[in-house]
Amino acid sequence: MLDHLPQLQPDPILGLSAAYQNDTNPKKVDLGVGVYKTEAGDTPVLQCVAEAEAQLLQTQTSKSYTPPAGITGANRAAAELAFGREHQALTDKRVGTVQTPGGCGALRLAAELIAHANPDATIWVSTPTWANHVPLLTSAGLRLKEYPYYNFAEHRIDFDAMMETLQQAGENDLVLLHACCHNPSGADLSQSQWQAVAELASKQGFTPFIDMAYQGFGQGIDQDAYGVRLLADTLPELVLATSFSKNLGLYRERAGSLSVVSANATQAQAVLSQTLSIARGLYSMPPSHGASIVDLVYHTPELRSQWKSELTGMRERIAGLREQLVGELNARQDKQRFDFIAREAGMFSFLGLSVAQVTRLKNEFSVYMTDNSRINVAGVNAHNLAYLADAIVKVLD
Ligand code: PMP
Repeated sequence: MLDHLPQLQPDPILGLSAAYQNDTNPKKVDLGVGVYKTEAGDTPVLQCVAEAEAQLLQTQTSKSYTPPAGITGANRAAAELAFGREHQALTDKRVGTVQTPGGCGALRLAAELIAHANPDATIWVSTPTWANHVPLLTSAGLRLKEYPYYNFAEHRIDFDAMMETLQQAGENDLVLLHACCHNPSGADLSQSQWQAVAELASKQGFTPFIDMAYQGFGQGIDQDAYGVRLLADTLPELVLATSFSKNLGLYRERAGSLSVVSANATQAQAVLSQTLSIARGLYSMPPSHGASIVDLVYHTPELRSQWKSELTGMRERIAGLREQLVGELNARQDKQRFDFIAREAGMFSFLGLSVAQVTRLKNEFSVYMTDNSRINVAGVNAHNLAYLADAIVKVLD
């Protein structure tokens, strides 16, 4: 039955992690996989999370099933963080939120919902976009098209080209946008660019589909949700996938949510019922542990303020590393060619190197990044900064 299936190559990014693990060079630097790291190179459990887990252990009395939509308090947390507590869409009950197994689960569930509602729908994704968007969305049978986004040569968003291409998107189309901390480029839309996208969506009739996997890692919780809130203000429909993997460090607990904004409360209920029915056919109900942590942290004032300061700490550390990396690189060569790194946000930026240069960094210096020269800035620290800058400048010639 399954014996004709051929062996697949390992996922490139997982292969990169394995190669890094096997490298015996004590100076090795891992800028590959997208997880936050401390100065010591660890991805720790946040203190607010450890505290919430200790409380859960004391108070949890059952492992019985959660409701189909998951933990109600976690969904409220996700929706309030995304839209803002008093957002009209929430008070008008136009938003249906379900808990999902991580942000990936939200993207896949959204894709199934869209395919169910409209099998002819096309999703427009940015060039480049996060590689996993492709299987997550196409596995549901949806067609993908690309819109230009990042100009690699000039290290900026090519907004004119993006808007021109999106003139082709119409009522059967969704446009996937990264709320903040664009993965892989780190280049985010400005507020006026979000406004222009909102106007275009209104004019053309396409539905925005926003992936918000890094809320709080860019400029702040509210600032990072600017686009989500604006589009929910101005448009009848919006699809939103969120994740607590990064901003609460819950990666393996798979805590995410899918929110759909509909034109009115009745329609929102109908969409929610359809979403739950699709989830039932995929995984029945989501895992509870991570979402219980989200609920407890968000709804316990001391834990919530602790979370906010831990999140601010992660955000500010990354912003500081961006500045330091630019400083070290610029000090080693004449041109200001790396200034853009400090202008970008979140964990990722492209260094703008060729595959040959990336390969040299790996083979000669044990510096690991994906072939497109995307770096996880959080992998930089005081110990490896000078070594890394030396290595990068050496492969430039
Ligand atoms: N969207 C983007 C752009 C991401 O980078 C990630 C995580 N790497 C996700 C969604 C989903 O994350 P998770 O499933 O771990 O919550």
